[in-house]
This record gives sequence, C-alpha cells and structure tokens, in this order.
Amino acid sequence: MNSELRELYQQVILDHNKSPRNYKKLDAATHASEGRNPLCGDHLHLYLILKDGVVEDISFEGNGCAISKSSASLMTSMVKGKSTEEAEILFEKFHNLVTGKLSEDADLTDVGKLAVFQGVREFPVRVKCASLAWHTLHAALKDENKIVTTE
Ligand code: ZN
Repeated sequence: MNSELRELYQQVILDHNKSPRNYKKLDAATHASEGRNPLCGDHLHLYLILKDGVVEDISFEGNGCAISKSSASLMTSMVKGKSTEEAEILFEKFHNLVTGKLSEDADLTDVGKLAVFQGVREFPVRVKCASLAWHTLHAALKDENKIVTTE
C-alpha cells in the first residue's frame, strides 16, 4: 500500500472515531447484541430494526479504541438498508480482508470504505478491534441475544 493511500485511510478512521455515524440507542430495536474485546477494552452495544429480512435501521453505543469505534461506525453505515443476506456476505468479505485472506491487489470496489481496515491485518490485536462490530452484528442477525467476546 502506498503512503498516500495509507494516509487517506487513517483520515477516514480518525473521522469516524471523532464523529461516529449512527451512534445512539434505538428504542424500537427488534434485535440487539453486545460485543466485548477484553484484549483492548472495546465494548459496544448494537441495535437493529429488522423488517422483512432487511436492516431498516441500525445503531451502536459503546467505548473503545479508534479502530473499533470507526469500524462500528462504518459497518452501520454500510449495512443500513441491506438485506440480512447481503450483510452476512459483507461480513464474510470484511473478515477475509482484515485476516489477509484477500490478496493485496484484490478487487475491493464492493467493500467500499471498508478497505480502510486492510492495514490492520499486520496487527493481530487490531484485527479483533476491527472485527468486533461485525461479530456483534452477526450475533444480532442470528438473534443470539448474548454477549460476544473476541476471546
Ligand atoms: Zn480496540
């Protein structure tokens, strides 16, 4: 990855950390779950309104490092309006991206801004930070009302 791109990616992460999107509680949530990453201290609550298999609304609240917070913010932005199947496919792609299962020059057009987390693959602890929101989403979609932990 060239340094210009890396810089741009850092800006996206900093921006979403500073002003996270969809950062609130949804009182009308039909699904909810909680995620914890004890290694880093990240902790988040995820709220979803699912209707006819579509994520009508999604939000989160919590505390954590810049990576976990910006990842949750981007995740909620991307998943809103998608079907649960589409959300699961995105989860799969994101997981492959941060664990390095996608090659460096793989086509990333359909993951959009999620590509900013490509760099975390070099830092196993950060992979957990970046994935936390997605694992929590996965649990919420499966209606597993439990606490997800990265351990
Ligand atoms: Zn973290």
